[in-house]
Amino acid sequence: MTGRWAPPSGGDVSLLPAGRQWDMVCAPAAVGPWVTAHGRAGAMIRGDAGCAWLVPPGATAGCRRPFAELAQYVTVAATGHALIPHAGRACGPGPHWVHPPRGPRAWMSTACLLADDLLIATELLYGPLPLPEPCPVCAAAVYARTAEWAPDPAAPAGMWRAVHPACAP
Ligand SMILES: [Zn+2]
Repeated sequence: MTGRWAPPSGGDVSLLPAGRQWDMVCAPAAVGPWVTAHGRAGAMIRGDAGCAWLVPPGATAGCRRPFAELAQYVTVAATGHALIPHAGRACGPGPHWVHPPRGPRAWMSTACLLADDLLIATELLYGPLPLPEPCPVCAAAVYARTAEWAPDPAAPAGMWRAVHPACAP
């Protein structure tokens, strides 16, 4: 597991800034139990609105199975503040830590392993994600949920293609 960051000791919660020592990967509460029981992530934060894992800043970029693929279910917070439970807070109300039953006790998760785990967990819960298409501008994979749509110059008028927002005309 990665990172030397650890939460403050005690049983309280603190509002801490994202993007400095960690980015926060937020997912629906329903995927948390599978990831904790079967995945390779570190400790999970269980909150009222969902569950979350902390990863090194910027680490969600460049995974083989990108987080963009999960954008329907999973968000990555690299700015703003989040309520972080202190190390000893193991139950609610409010955010608290849930440690995997096996493996090393880690406060941070490896982003790309977490992406793989979340892809399995969301597929088990919600069904398979659509396959990516090649972007007509840069040819890299583009996922419909994070795409913009642009007229397809290689097709009859009225046909639209998914492109990256940065590649859109
Ligand atoms: Zn592109």
